[in-house]
Amino acid sequence: MAGYDIIVAGGGIAGTLAASAAAQKGAKVAMLDRNDQSIVGRKTVWGWVCGDAVAKSHLDFVSKEIDIRFGEPELDLKVDGVYAFSPDLEHRFLFDGEGYSLDRPKLAQKLLKYALKNGVEYVPGFNVEGPIIEDGRITGVHGRNSKKEQERHTAKLVIDTLGIASMLRRKLPDNPYIEREVSTDDIESTGRYIFNFEAKAEDLRYYDPKNALIHLNQQLAPGGYGWVFPKKGKRMNIGLGVEKKSLEIRNAKMGKKDTLHMLIDEYVKWNPIIESTSIDPTDNNGKGYWSVTVRRQFDSLVYPGYLGAGDSMAMPNPISAGGIGPAMVAGVLAGKVAGEAIARKDTSLESIWDYNIRYNGEYGNKTAGLEVFRVYLQSLNNDLINYGMAKFLTKEEAIEISYGRVPELTVASKFQKVLSGIGNINAFRNLIFTVNKMKKLNNLYKEYPKTPQEFPAWKKLVNEEMSGVKERFRPNPV
Ligand SMILES: Cc1cc2nc3c(=O)[nH]c(=O)nc-3n(C[C@H](O)[C@H](O)[C@H](O)COP(=O)(O)OP(=O)(O)OC[C@H]3O[C@@H](n4cnc5c(N)ncnc54)[C@H](O)[C@@H]3O)c2cc1C
Repeated sequence: MAGYDIIVAGGGIAGTLAASAAAQKGAKVAMLDRNDQSIVGRKTVWGWVCGDAVAKSHLDFVSKEIDIRFGEPELDLKVDGVYAFSPDLEHRFLFDGEGYSLDRPKLAQKLLKYALKNGVEYVPGFNVEGPIIEDGRITGVHGRNSKKEQERHTAKLVIDTLGIASMLRRKLPDNPYIEREVSTDDIESTGRYIFNFEAKAEDLRYYDPKNALIHLNQQLAPGGYGWVFPKKGKRMNIGLGVEKKSLEIRNAKMGKKDTLHMLIDEYVKWNPIIESTSIDPTDNNGKGYWSVTVRRQFDSLVYPGYLGAGDSMAMPNPISAGGIGPAMVAGVLAGKVAGEAIARKDTSLESIWDYNIRYNGEYGNKTAGLEVFRVYLQSLNNDLINYGMAKFLTKEEAIEISYGRVPELTVASKFQKVLSGIGNINAFRNLIFTVNKMKKLNNLYKEYPKTPQEFPAWKKLVNEEMSGVKERFRPNPV
């Protein structure tokens, strides 16, 4: 007999929301996390490492679906939008609309409180070590409790919200649905500081109290980008992400041995308006490093007895690495679908497949296309990005792409446009290839399989469409 209806493993954003949503459906839910209640949601010893930016639309989705309202103190500062700057800072594209800088520790407390109010049992100090597998089905988790003793917990369904390094996903049996590992090419190493600072001067290209700024620059942040996100008062979240291969190529070409940590410090120095900084000591969360995936989410998010949500399923957006929004959407939907399956006493794979369909309908259907765009972007050096942002796309077309939509006709019509330089012309041709690929993938995701039986044939088509993309677009940071 299963101990719980549902075990949620991991009490981060995806986990707390999944637990609340499932409990609201009447399921008996336990949420296991290695953290005590006072530090719930802390990702690593470094803290709640994040850029802290989330779009308003994602918070609205959560409020609508599970009736929780957000405000101060977890919403630290409202921002009007997110702007991406070209390396020469001559061009900026609006990349995302209205949103917030979050106080992540405060948000985690709020989400835990809400889960407890909904009847979720929180099991703190529990380190999950792997799944319990019986006859090819996940029936629980094993790990060490707060006294470091081995302990097993069983359930009818397990929701994996353990984050990028999930010990559950990585120990799933060989299966046709969920990959166990993520390629290093699809991972960004990232880090950030939360600074108290004084501004030396006003220059909205480097710090904007009303907008989040992204700096595309293949020398400062090879294969990734730097960011300056404002927070309340004289505070900012400043950080940077790099892709390993791009960093190696950049270092070899420039004769350097820079590491992520060195690059972040370089980026702070590069910013001319920042003066007399100190790391914000609040919650011991002012400095930290961690990883983010920048690929499409796993093609299936369910396996018999198992659903995954958030970073455990590689959900962050492939071009922005924003993972809070998808973790929120997925957490809510996974919890709902699992709770509904318990209520109708059918926890078969067919019964929880609806989660795949709902997540793809809500968010996931654009990420394969965005993954291709990300690989394309990583193949452009600073000159090509400068030129491309000036000549290839209008601001409106760039917004379309950042939302995963495809501005087909207008881009194609630019074949008429006079471009100079063979490198630029090739880069433009590659953009057309990318946009066409995005269109095909978006169409394929509109046909997401309705049943597990239809999944292998569909996955084969996705793999065929994705194959050759990385070979065509090699990282070329300098
Ligand atoms: C530097 C950086 C900047 C980022 N900036 C942004 C941003 O500005 N906007 C944005 O949208 N996204 C950003 N992201 C991504 C975002 O932080 C994540 O996508 C988000 O936190 C995912 O939430 P989650 O609940 O899936 O996982 P997590 O937040 O990783 O939560 C996982 C939980 O599981 C627990 N856990 C893990 N392993 C075990 C185990 N074995 N046993 C028990 N418990 C365990 C952890 O302690 C944690 O509580 C950033 C990420 C990084 C690293």
